[in-house]
Amino acid sequence: MVGPVVGKSGNSVQKTVTILGATGSVGDSTIDLILRNPEAYRVVALTAHKNCAKLAAQARALKPQMVACADPNGYAELKEALRDTNIHVAAGPEGVCEAANLDADWVMAAIVGAAGLQPTLTAVRRGAQIALANKECLVCAGDLFMAAVRDNGATLLPVDSEHNAIFQVFDFDLRDKVTRILLTASGGPFRTKTRAEMASMSPAQAVAHPNWSMGAKISVDSATMMNKGLELIEAHHLFATAEDRIEILVHPQSVIHSMVEYADGSVLAQLGTPDMRTPIAFALAWPKRMEAPAARLDLAALKSLTFEAPDLERFPALRLAREALKAGGAAPTILNAANEIAVASFLADELGFLDIADVVEETLSAMPPQSIATLEDVMGVDTEARRVAALGARQRAAKRIGAAAE
Ligand code: NAD
Ligand code: MG
Repeated sequence: MVGPVVGKSGNSVQKTVTILGATGSVGDSTIDLILRNPEAYRVVALTAHKNCAKLAAQARALKPQMVACADPNGYAELKEALRDTNIHVAAGPEGVCEAANLDADWVMAAIVGAAGLQPTLTAVRRGAQIALANKECLVCAGDLFMAAVRDNGATLLPVDSEHNAIFQVFDFDLRDKVTRILLTASGGPFRTKTRAEMASMSPAQAVAHPNWSMGAKISVDSATMMNKGLELIEAHHLFATAEDRIEILVHPQSVIHSMVEYADGSVLAQLGTPDMRTPIAFALAWPKRMEAPAARLDLAALKSLTFEAPDLERFPALRLAREALKAGGAAPTILNAANEIAVASFLADELGFLDIADVVEETLSAMPPQSIATLEDVMGVDTEARRVAALGARQRAAKRIGAAAE
């Protein structure tokens, strides 16, 4: 359950910590906080995908028991880079799961995409405190993931800034008096662009987020607003709240990170400057609080906070995500897998920006409705959706090359 469940390290002097996705943007911010408080945390394991040089440098600074890179080809480089240490080195997806299985009190789940599902579940199954950044886990396998959290007595601490905000103001004892969740969205770099303007936007323009500095995939998701669609599904699972009680509100300043409305009309919000170190610090210190270096909020200097309704015509990904959540079954798994493929093709300059949502929509239409009962079902649907989406992406990419040649 998400909620005030004290983990086994609640009273220990040093919290033991593992970071899955240590070399990414959330990983960097987590390490920044740990290095500012070296006496409070001991790092057990660090993992990455391919960036072995960075992972090895992080390992030298933090002295974990173990490091793992998901890319099996990275083993030799990582082993060589750490040859004068006694740090255990592993590689491949099993190596990442081995790292997640080591006995750390607190695990930062910051791998990007569905690739984070198995390692995060490995940590869930041993009842750890999970600081959850990896929203794709909940989108592709939400019911199963939440059941595993409950069954194993794990604790979920939401790190996604909106969900962290909701967590801070959500009264779990008065859940039936929560009438709405207001999920705020910056609107991304293309908030004011027309569809015609968006059509020619490059990967570099899409990843240039106005308020947040993040990894490439989530930055593109912010530009299409699929990120908010994924977060809608994430909020539904984390807070056991029905789809029609979660409203998306565009708030370009990213100061109010989300809000919860109660039956009496009160609306509680969490505010702060847009810096991921604040929600990560909340999760790292939970159930206490710690110092974090984010710039302090100066509302007088900001002068105004503005809000607008999301535009579902210009940002169809929002509609697709809501429809997938309503449809249930395999639809969110398909949405997530197709989006991962489409975003990767866009970042590789094969697809146009508007093709991303189109590939997702076509993949959802092409695949029959299915129910999901087991993790094998999730993996099967995920694999098939990636195949269908990749085919659709290739066809669109070929058309694009043809059109450019004319
Ligand atoms: P990133 O791309 O900067 O980092 C991703 C990390 O995952 C890296 O360490 C990378 O090596 C690792 N990784 C990538 N593919 C992998 C694979 N196949 N197997 C194992 N490891 C792999 O991404 P990020 O911006 O840090 O985001 C990480 C997660 O946190 C995403 O799910 C994202 O949606 C979520 N999140 C990020 C932010 C943010 O501000 N960056 C905010 C909220 C939520
Ligand atoms: Mg977010």
